[in-house]
Amino acid sequence: MTCAGNEKIRFFHNPDYEKIHKRSFCDPNKPFPQMIMIPFFRKATQIVPNCNLYEKHKTSLAMMVFYQQWAENIGDDNLSVRNMLEDVMIEWDINKKTVKKAYNLKGEKVTNVRVNGLARGGNYTWIWAGHFNKISETSLMHELIHLSLRAKNGHGDADHEGNKHEGWTREHTALIIKMKKILRIFNI
Ligand SMILES: [Zn+2]
Repeated sequence: MTCAGNEKIRFFHNPDYEKIHKRSFCDPNKPFPQMIMIPFFRKATQIVPNCNLYEKHKTSLAMMVFYQQWAENIGDDNLSVRNMLEDVMIEWDINKKTVKKAYNLKGEKVTNVRVNGLARGGNYTWIWAGHFNKISETSLMHELIHLSLRAKNGHGDADHEGNKHEGWTREHTALIIKMKKILRIFNI
C-alpha cells in the first residue's frame, strides 16, 4: 500500500546520517566560529559564535516547526522548501550588521539600516543571535520565509509585502507570528 502525500510530511530523519551528526558538535575549547551540522536535516549546517547560540537541537526543532507550519499553511507539493531546509546554512552572529539598502515589511526602501538578518544568496542566511538567548526572538523564521520563497519562485522577494517583487504576502507575515508563538511554547 502506498500513501500519496505521505512524503511531504515525512519526519526529517535519515538514520544513514546519524553517525555524521553525532560527530558534529560544538566544542567550547576550539576556536570560534564553528560550523556544526544540524541534526535531522541531511546537509544543513549552522555557524556559531559560541556553544550557546544556538544548541543544534534547538535550531533543528525551530526548523521543524517552520516546515510543519509552512507545509500546512502554504504547501510544498514539489518539496522545494523541504529540500532547501535539508541544505540550509545558518550563520549566527552576536553583532548586528548595517546594510546600504533594504526594504521594510511594507516594501518601503530604507538606507544605511541596521539589520537582524539577511538572506541574500542561495540557501545561506545570516542571523543576529539577539539579546534573549531565544530563537523565537530572532529573525530566523523571517529569513527562512525568504529562503523558501527563493526555493519556490527563484527569488526571495526582498521587498516583502511591497509591489516591486512578488511572492511575500500578508499571509507570510502572519505565519511568522504564529511560528514564533509555537517556538515560545517550546521555550526555544
Ligand atoms: Zn526580510
